[in-house]
Amino acid sequence: MPRDPRYDILFEPVRIGPKVAKNRFFQVPHCNGGGYRDPSAVAEMRRVKAEGGWGVIFTEQVEIHHTSEITPFIELHLWDDRDIPALARMSEAMKSHGALAGIELAYSGINGPNLYSREVPLAVSGGPILTFTSDPVQARTMDREDIRDLRRWFRNAFVRSQRAGFDIVCLYGAHGFGILQHFLSRATNHRTDEYGGSLENRARFVREVIEEGREATKGEMAISLRLSLHEAGKMGFSNAEVRDFIEMHGDLPDLWDLAHGTWEQCSGTSRFKPEGAQEDLVKGIKDLTPRPVVGVGRFTSADAMVRQVKSGILDFIGAARPSIADPFLPKKIEEGRFEDIRECIGCNICVSGDMTQGISRCTQNPAFMEEWRKGWHPERARPKGASDSVLIVGAGPAGLEAARVLGQRGYRVALAEAGTSLGGRVTRERALPGLAAWGRVADYRTGQIAPMPNVEVYFDSRLTAEDILGMGFDHVAIATGATWRRDAVARHHLFPIPTDPAMPVLTPDDLMADGGPSGGCVVIYDDDHFYMGSVLAELLIARGCEVHVVTPATKVAEWTENTLEQGIIQARLMEAGVHLHLSRAPVAIGARAVTLACTWTGREADLPADAVLMVTSRTPDDGLYLDLKARDWRGAGIRSLKVIGDAAAPGPIAWATYSGRRYAEEMDAEDIGDALPFRREIAELL
Ligand code: ADP
Ligand code: SF4
Repeated sequence: MPRDPRYDILFEPVRIGPKVAKNRFFQVPHCNGGGYRDPSAVAEMRRVKAEGGWGVIFTEQVEIHHTSEITPFIELHLWDDRDIPALARMSEAMKSHGALAGIELAYSGINGPNLYSREVPLAVSGGPILTFTSDPVQARTMDREDIRDLRRWFRNAFVRSQRAGFDIVCLYGAHGFGILQHFLSRATNHRTDEYGGSLENRARFVREVIEEGREATKGEMAISLRLSLHEAGKMGFSNAEVRDFIEMHGDLPDLWDLAHGTWEQCSGTSRFKPEGAQEDLVKGIKDLTPRPVVGVGRFTSADAMVRQVKSGILDFIGAARPSIADPFLPKKIEEGRFEDIRECIGCNICVSGDMTQGISRCTQNPAFMEEWRKGWHPERARPKGASDSVLIVGAGPAGLEAARVLGQRGYRVALAEAGTSLGGRVTRERALPGLAAWGRVADYRTGQIAPMPNVEVYFDSRLTAEDILGMGFDHVAIATGATWRRDAVARHHLFPIPTDPAMPVLTPDDLMADGGPSGGCVVIYDDDHFYMGSVLAELLIARGCEVHVVTPATKVAEWTENTLEQGIIQARLMEAGVHLHLSRAPVAIGARAVTLACTWTGREADLPADAVLMVTSRTPDDGLYLDLKARDWRGAGIRSLKVIGDAAAPGPIAWATYSGRRYAEEMDAEDIGDALPFRREIAELL
C-alpha cells in the first residue's frame, strides 16, 4: 500500500551535522543484557532494526576506558583496539539498510564501581559510588591531570569509533549514569576550580570533549549529546538549567538527545506512565537551538509521532522499547500496515534482562536477542515442514503465539479455547488497575491470526483427553495455563500452613473473576514479589478495604527493582494508606486473625483480618497434558504431544510468548538430541 501522505513528514531526511538520516525514526541507545558477552547476538538484533527501516540505530552504552566500568552489568567495551572488530560488526549491521550507525560513549564516574578492573574510580567530585547496590567503594576526585587524561581517553574513543565504522558518536550524560551530566550538575560537581561553580564552568568539560572529538575525527562524524531533561533535588541539573545550558551552547553538538531524569523516570512502565510522558519537559527546547532534537516517550502511534514533529517539539522520534517490541515499526507505518504493528506494552521485561545480567527478552517480540542465537526473525518464520496439522489447546499468550507462528508457517492450526475470549491471563489482567496496555499481547495476536485461512479458532471448547485422541491432528500442544494457589506455598513456605476454614482465603484469580471483598480488612500475603500483590492492593483500596501487605522481603514487590518500578510501587502503596508488614510471613491463619512471624527473629504477633489474599505461586493446569500422556496418544496417530507456557511452568507473560514461539519454530525441525539449542560465543584463549 502506498504511504498515507499524513505520515510523509516522518520519512523526511534530516541532517545531523555532517551526516543525513534517511528518516525521523531514531533508535536511541538501549541495553540488552548481551553486550560484550554476546556481540554477534547484539549485532544481529541491530541488523534486524536496520531492515525494519530505522533511520538511526545506536549501540547500548560503550565503556570507553577500564578506569570506569559498571560490572556486573554487561554493556560494550572500547578499552583498546582489540574491541574494534566486535563494534565494527555492529556498525556494519546497523548500516546494512541505509541507517546511520551510532555509538554511545560512556564514562561512568561516580557510577562505576570498577568491580572487574579494580581501578580506583575517578569522579568529578569524589564520594561513595552511587550504584543500585550501594557498593562499599568510593571514587577519588579527579585533579587537572586526571581531567586531561579523561579528555584524551574520550579523544581515543572518538578515533576508535570512527575506525569501527560509526557515523555518530553520542556522549552519554543522561539518567545520572554519565560523567558529562556529573560535570553539569551541581549535585555531583562540587569543584571550586574552572570546572566547577558557574554553569559556564560546569559546561567546560562537555565543550572540550566535543570540540576535541570533532577535531580528532576531522569533522566527519556527527556528535550528539544525551542529557537528562530534569534531575530532581535542590542541586540537580533541573529542566530550567538544562534549557539555560542548551541556549548557551545551542550549536555545540550536532544533535540533542533528551531523556527524562533517572532511568526509572525515563523508562517508566505503562502502569505508571502514558505514551509521550516527557512532553512538558522537552517542549520549547527546539526553539533554543538550531540543532535537531530527539526525545523518547514509548511512541507506538504514528499520529502521536506526527504531532510531535508538526508541533515543533521533536525532530526525531526516539524509541528504545517500541523498537524492541517491533523492529519493523517504521516500515509498517510506511507501508500503511498499522494492524501489523506489535505495540510495546510497557512492561519493562526487556529492562529486567539487563538488570539480572541475563539476556534481554521482550514480551511482545520473542525473537528479540534470538536473531543470531536461534536464527529467529520478528517478522518471518521458517517454511512449513513435513507434517500438516496442529491442535493447540488454550488461547493464552503461549497458545496464541504458537498459533500465529504455525499459521504463518502454513500449518493447518486449530486453536481450542475453553472460554469465550482470546488472551487467557492477559484478558483478565488487562482489566486490573494500570495494566490495560498489556492487552496488546492478545490484540496483536488475535489480529494476526484472524485473516489466516489455515487457523481455526474454537470457543467454548474445553477439551478432554478423550476428545483430543479422536480429533486426528498430527501434533498437539497443551497451553492451558496456571491457577494461583490458596495455601501460602511459594518460596518462604514450601508446605501449606494451618488455616481455619472460617477465614475467607482468596487468590488473584478470585479477584479477577470479580469476586472478593468490597470492604473490611484484607491481608495480602505476597511471596510472589512481582506486580500482582501491589496491583491488587490498589484494587482493594479503591474498593474501600483496609489493606495490609505482608511479605517476607524487606521491600514490597522486590523483583520489580528489575523493571524499574519498585520505588514507585512502594511510595504509592504508602501514600494510599496500605499498611506494610515487611520481613513478615504468616505462620497460621485463624478464623479472625493471621499470626505473623518476623522472618529474622521469629517473634509472632496476631493481625486481625476479615479475609486473606494469597499472592504466592501458581499451580500449572497440566491435568489434561498428564491425562493424555498416560494414554496411547501415539496409537491415536498423534506424532508429538507437548505442554507449553504456564501449563509447563508458570512465569511472566514473556516466558509464555517465548514458549509459544519456540514450539512453533521447532515444529518439524531436526532432532538435535542433547546439543545446545542456541549459538553462543566463547572467548578465544590467548
Ligand atoms: P499461558 O500464559 O501459558 O498462555 P493462560 O493461563 O494465559 O496460559 O491461558 C490458558 C488458556 O487455556 C485459558 O484461556 C484457558 O481458558 C484455556 N484452557 C484451559 N484448559 C483448557 C481446556 N481443557 N481446553 C481448552 N482451553 C483450555
Ligand atoms: Fe515493551 Fe515489554 Fe517488550 Fe520491553 S519487554 S519492549 S516494555 S513489550
